[in-house]
Amino acid sequence: MLSLTKTELREFMKNKLNTEAFRADQIYSWIYRNAGEADFSGMSDISKAHRKIFGENLYIGRLEILKKQVSRDGTVKYLFGLHDKNAVESVFMKYKHGNTLCVSTQAGCRMACVFCDSATGGLSRNLLPSEMLLQVMSAQRDMNVRISNVVLMGIGEPLDNFENVIKFLELVNSKDGLNIGYRHISVSTCGLVDKINRLRDINIPVTLSVSLHAPNDIIRSGLMPVNNKYGVDELLKSCKDYADFTKRRISFEYVLINNINDSRENARELALKIKNILCHVNLILINRVPGGNFSPPNAKRAEEFRKTLEASGINATFRRKCGDDINAACGQLRKKSDIF
Ligand code: SAH
Repeated sequence: MLSLTKTELREFMKNKLNTEAFRADQIYSWIYRNAGEADFSGMSDISKAHRKIFGENLYIGRLEILKKQVSRDGTVKYLFGLHDKNAVESVFMKYKHGNTLCVSTQAGCRMACVFCDSATGGLSRNLLPSEMLLQVMSAQRDMNVRISNVVLMGIGEPLDNFENVIKFLELVNSKDGLNIGYRHISVSTCGLVDKINRLRDINIPVTLSVSLHAPNDIIRSGLMPVNNKYGVDELLKSCKDYADFTKRRISFEYVLINNINDSRENARELALKIKNILCHVNLILINRVPGGNFSPPNAKRAEEFRKTLEASGINATFRRKCGDDINAACGQLRKKSDIF
């Protein structure tokens, strides 16, 4: 039920349950007030008869908090159990600009970036809009605060689950739903060009983050298999189209890996290729993952990379690292299966 918009639920009431459409409004306001409730028994302002009909015809999903870890920096990582023995992680972060939840979009991922633990074990399945929504609702309820920002940067490739992600964005944004402005939502992609173009055409004003991580095909293909399908030039062209069309700044993510993609020459090549795009570069020192043999550059080398970009007119900052002591940082989230 949580995957439905209010309009869809109204239609369901009228056409399938032969009851008044306004019942949808009652259910909607109740469910968003009582995030995480999984049955209608607590809905005391309507008759028992109606509760029974709803209970028999509408399934409200829920997520079980299987594990909750709190970092020394205040970041909180949840392991949420889904109904089918998959489990995904979400990360709650406190920023000056508001409480942010990093949401998973798939149980696993099939993009197989070599530095990322979320790809370990491949893809189990796409998450439903309701399962993404429930991550926000459940964290909100557990922390007892309002979440004002959502980033689709957890496990999975959001644009590989395109329809469900777009529906989720609508539900999050809806005044009847979580009422979070599109400008407070970021969608991150490893660079699925066809889907970036679709997102551009839909034109919803979310921030697009693109995990670039390399200035050319030789380096990028060694790190990210998706680059064999959509090379750097093709990706950057679609980013430019996106920024030109939407007038919104793209955020390029760039994970610095010692001696792989972090030389001055790499920075110059990157600057040259993106200088005509309305963008910002978000630098991330690579986080360690089990079995990984990449390491981050030292602080001096990393800062040199940033300065080289800036000297070429590219705005670049380091992303604050959150929750690495509880493996909640970028690339450290991992799907769990069969753990119940
Ligand atoms: N699939 C999407 C969403 C994931 S967002 C994407 O690729 O953008 C997670 C971000 O963390 C991505 O930018 C990803 O490339 C980055 N990341 C993955 N592994 C990492 C690691 N070990 N250290 C730092 N960042 C990493």
